[in-house]
Amino acid sequence: MKYISTRGQAPALGFEEAILTGMASDGGLYVPETLPQFSAEEIASWAGLSYQELALKVIEPFVAGEIPSADLKAIIDKAYASFRHDGIAPLVQTAHNEWVLELFQGPTLAFKDFALQFLGHLLDYVLKKREQKVVVMGATSGDTGSAAIEGCSRCDNIDIFILHPYQRVSEVQRRQMTTVLTNNVHNVALHGNFDDCQNMVKASFADQSFLPEGRQLVAVNSINWARIMAQIVYYFYAALSVGGPHRPVAFSVPTGNFGDIFAGYLASKMGLPIDQLIVATNSNDILHRCISANDHSKHQLEHTLSPSMDIMVSSNFERLLFDLYGRDGAEIQRLMDEFKSGSMSLSETALSQARELFSSFRLDDKGMIKVIEDVYESSEYLLDPHTAIGIAAARAERRRSDIPMICLATAHPAKFPEAVEKAVEGVHPALPHHMADLFEREERYEVLDNDIAAVQGFVKTNTRA
Ligand SMILES: *Cc1c(COP(=O)(O)O)cnc(C)c1O
Repeated sequence: MKYISTRGQAPALGFEEAILTGMASDGGLYVPETLPQFSAEEIASWAGLSYQELALKVIEPFVAGEIPSADLKAIIDKAYASFRHDGIAPLVQTAHNEWVLELFQGPTLAFKDFALQFLGHLLDYVLKKREQKVVVMGATSGDTGSAAIEGCSRCDNIDIFILHPYQRVSEVQRRQMTTVLTNNVHNVALHGNFDDCQNMVKASFADQSFLPEGRQLVAVNSINWARIMAQIVYYFYAALSVGGPHRPVAFSVPTGNFGDIFAGYLASKMGLPIDQLIVATNSNDILHRCISANDHSKHQLEHTLSPSMDIMVSSNFERLLFDLYGRDGAEIQRLMDEFKSGSMSLSETALSQARELFSSFRLDDKGMIKVIEDVYESSEYLLDPHTAIGIAAARAERRRSDIPMICLATAHPAKFPEAVEKAVEGVHPALPHHMADLFEREERYEVLDNDIAAVQGFVKTNTRA
């Protein structure tokens, strides 16, 4: 399968090239040229499959011609072996016809493990085959960094460097990164904020001449196509668990960069009957404003108790826009040029088409805390703050009560104890057993000045020969 850029100018690439390239040379994002299509009969025939077996069915067509089925199967099996629940993505009922899809059973307790465990093993396989070594560099304000490190920690052909703002990530999040002590993992605590970290990474991607001879940088942020692809699987898995494809289902998705929910959109385009996709945002609500009022304008960043959704602009939204504008790369380029001013508006056609499938919702911290409290009172189920916003969105925006509503639980409550403790007095969400000693484990990280030469020097020195 070929992958093309949303801005229409960069060359089309094969799957392996697309996942190693990251952003396209024209500034766009890679998407598959065509989507695999599954009939209702075919989807129905998958009803008894394990998560891993289903993943093979869904992912296979995307890598056809480049990765043989048996190799893909091995990658998938390795990726999900690190999950501590045999269901991989278990469903828990929270109200009548309302379910929580627990996507936090992976090693770092957030849904990003689904994509990054898979991507780590996939890159390892592809790089070995090509006899190539790469450097992964990324910036994190929390969840992405730990999931990327866990995903790459056992990859022989990858050295990974993750920058986080010094003393500005939570202790759980920092320790999840800094206690991984394999010799290809490097944490940099940068004197600065998250934007400084991100700028450092951007500048390094733009000019990679500081790297040792023969190395290139690979991006593992959500613009990497393989991450989106891996996330399509759990939409099928959840729908099959509640009676799909014979009945349609609805999903509510806590959203930041639009990666997770875009995977749901793709599942629907591939043939899964989805009645509604709800975009649930916190106070950083550019997507909600866009879908509900055609106001796609950049606002100041707000720091909330659901920090993994604290964004000003959603990078993957461009992938949806590409479809909404008839896959016309020139139109997307024009829109993105318009957005450089800080704001853009969608055409009526694009907007009404989006609204057929998508609804949107926004909730601030105060409302979110109330939801954690209410759900705990009614079912003794503890929600993390991101998931709580998704539940609120589902309850406010659902179109049909007879259609099962599946709310994606993107993190384990113990990752964000502050919000939970505000919501339910006397309840402290405990870390799962396998992580209970996190606060006693040895840490390793390098504190560096906000200075590009210092950071790039550190990367160069620590990249293995
Ligand atoms: C990353 C993240 C999100 C947002 O996901 P996107 O794919 O960026 O929309 C939501 N919740 C948690 C806990 C996350 O880590």
